Amino acid sequence: MNPLACPKCKGTLKAIIYQNIEIDRCDDCLGIWFDSLEAEELKNCQGSESIDKGDLNEKSLSDPLTKPIFCPRCQVTMLKMLDLDQYPIWYEICSQCQGIWFDAGEFKKFKSNFLPKGFFTQAKQAFSFKKNRS
Ligand SMILES: [Zn+2]
Ligand SMILES: [Zn+2]
Repeated sequence: MNPLACPKCKGTLKAIIYQNIEIDRCDDCLGIWFDSLEAEELKNCQGSESIDKGDLNEKSLSDPLTKPIFCPRCQVTMLKMLDLDQYPIWYEICSQCQGIWFDAGEFKKFKSNFLPKGFFTQAKQAFSFKKNRS
């Protein structure tokens, strides 16, 4: 497999194996690429946040909409996803291959935002909690 180019800084993504799951991390900006469902699987692995070596750059929160990034596999524009749970994070998802890009530090936040139940379960719970006024 050819090494992927970092969608943010055009550095080279290096494969890292964690618990038999292969992810790709950029040596330069420390962003992490997950193929479809890898983020979901790794989120449920204890200690998996250790793959995320970077710290969240506050600046990236302030200009989340300025730069579109392109899927390193499919070259299509990735969709911005806002996760507003405990910590607001923006991450990108590819509508074609379902790959996910996290900037440095975002996976740690992503992991702590969700209980190990799946992407949408907790979001739904939060929603029904708000609707339930009692
Ligand atoms: Zn990079
Ligand atoms: Zn893709």
